[in-house]
Amino acid sequence: MSALTDLLDRAERVYRDWRFTTVKEWKARTGGLAVGYMPVWVPREVLHAQGVLPVGVMGAGDDLEIIRGDAYYQSYICHIPRSTIELALNGSLDCLDGMLFPATCDVIRNLSGIWKLTFADKLVRYYDTPQDFDPARGGAFVRKDLEELSEDLARRGARPLTAAALRRSVEAYNENRRLVRGLYDLRRDAPWKVPTYELYVLLRAGMVLPVEESSAMLASYRAAVEADTSRRPMDQARVVLSGSFCEQPPLGLLKTLERSGCYIVDDDLAQVHRWIRSDVPLEGDPLDALVAASLHDAIPHPTRWSEGEKKGEDLVERVRRSRAGGVLFAAPSFCDPALLDQPMAVAAIERAGIPWTAFKYAENGGQFQVIREQAGTFADSIKLWSAA
Ligand code: SF4
Repeated sequence: MSALTDLLDRAERVYRDWRFTTVKEWKARTGGLAVGYMPVWVPREVLHAQGVLPVGVMGAGDDLEIIRGDAYYQSYICHIPRSTIELALNGSLDCLDGMLFPATCDVIRNLSGIWKLTFADKLVRYYDTPQDFDPARGGAFVRKDLEELSEDLARRGARPLTAAALRRSVEAYNENRRLVRGLYDLRRDAPWKVPTYELYVLLRAGMVLPVEESSAMLASYRAAVEADTSRRPMDQARVVLSGSFCEQPPLGLLKTLERSGCYIVDDDLAQVHRWIRSDVPLEGDPLDALVAASLHDAIPHPTRWSEGEKKGEDLVERVRRSRAGGVLFAAPSFCDPALLDQPMAVAAIERAGIPWTAFKYAENGGQFQVIREQAGTFADSIKLWSAA
């Protein structure tokens, strides 16, 4: 087995392990706390600085049958809250000392309430992203929120937060973000070298493993694919995958899209790695720097207010930058933030003359034939008519 295959096997095992074995092993080894977080973004640096392992909880994918979780939510809404409750009720999340729920939508707000009622002994925080980005208001609000979170963690046995430790953690995550950005750039320039399903399992493993281990994995992967001369370009259409920022598509769906003739050259998957677009400055107060980056250097997003047509313009810019021939809008079924923004995004890319198509998915969907035909036809149409 090659080193690359070994690496990807390990990443996929971590990604598929809804029992969080590596988290349990880490806790047994270090005696530290582990705190889960849901999509899209939380300040993992603060947890890391206090010796706490941040653990991305992205639902159960297509590997777990939902039985009790269905009783907590309406049957028609998205799948991720139900599979997350199922994981909690079957004991898979017992290793987590707390959960952070970023403010993405009402579903997640309600999930944080369910958590408070059902798991009263755990730390539960609703991480409320402000929609006012003025440092004196939104910035002060986030800073206070983070200070309270760090005090809560310290009360549960984590190390107190210090500026020196936070600066080191910011540095570790800056390095990790640089490696992720580098792989996105490499995939954009040579998508045959970096298939999306490979990149994706590495990103997902990086949401569970310590950041240092994730960075080592990303660097090894990059070295391995750059040295691999057997990966050759194919006649595929370049597309941007938009809307998959919370509940994630099954791995089989990502493979299907690539096998149908698409090269995914930009996407919204596992966005915690790319929420902050550039390095967080290491000068000055690191908590202020982290707060400022999360407000002013964050990607335009359906869960954040943006002025005017900024989100649509950002999507058009991403298509241009990645030299994509079209956009695949792929959102989870009943995902309010993704589907409410979609008409504005469609209007923006239509104005720019960019082809698009749209479909919905569930994390546990297993039938991809219709999507394969749709994506394949879309890829053919881009290749036939965009070049004409
Ligand atoms: S998939 Fe969409 S609607 Fe469902 S929890 Fe996530 S953001 Fe909310």
